Amino acid sequence: MAKKILIVEDEQDILQLVRMYLEKEGYRTCTATSGLAGLKQTKTEHPDLVILDLMLAEMDGLEVCKRIRADPKTAIIPIIMLTAKAEESDTIIGLELGADDYVTKPFSPKALVARVKALFRRLERAKEEPARFVYGKLVVDLERHEVIADGREVPLTAKEFGLLEQLLRNPGRVLTRDVLLNAVWGYDYYGTTRTVDVHVRRLKQKVPLLNDAIVSVKSLGYKLKEHDHPT
Ligand code: CA
Repeated sequence: MAKKILIVEDEQDILQLVRMYLEKEGYRTCTATSGLAGLKQTKTEHPDLVILDLMLAEMDGLEVCKRIRADPKTAIIPIIMLTAKAEESDTIIGLELGADDYVTKPFSPKALVARVKALFRRLERAKEEPARFVYGKLVVDLERHEVIADGREVPLTAKEFGLLEQLLRNPGRVLTRDVLLNAVWGYDYYGTTRTVDVHVRRLKQKVPLLNDAIVSVKSLGYKLKEHDHPT
């Protein structure tokens, strides 16, 4: 089925233009014109991606982004933010809050569609489950459960390995502690999100080259920097 994209934008002409271009490319769309309505729709419409304007009535885009990421049910939905040039610092905050990409206004709808496609491609690639990840001088073999850093094998516990695997599968994306807990420990685990912090710290101790690569994202969780695009 065609992917569904939620567009949250309070300027009607931009909203309709973006919608038209996305539908022309075969995407399904749904729309909201306020932050609050947009947040509600991420829960009810189950979009595959959210295009989120920064300046919105009721609740601004940054707050919407933060709440989408904080809710385990919506935490992994990819988000592209629409920002104005003057709001560059907001853009940076947006990326810290877990937006996957941003497009600066005024933009051409074609350029936005290209970014949407690129993001979907990036996510598809990550889902293809390669048996082996290469991240700089780190090689992780999923089948053999083997981690080679700087040419030397590093023994990891199952949980440390699981964490590393989740991060490698989602380079450049913020993974909240809840998402990591569910993925590595399982939904029936009753530990606290502090568990994740402890294991990330141990993982960094064992594999020092991850020290700069795994970044902590404010109160949310962790992100593995994309290797080709160091930020
Ligand atoms: Ca706006």
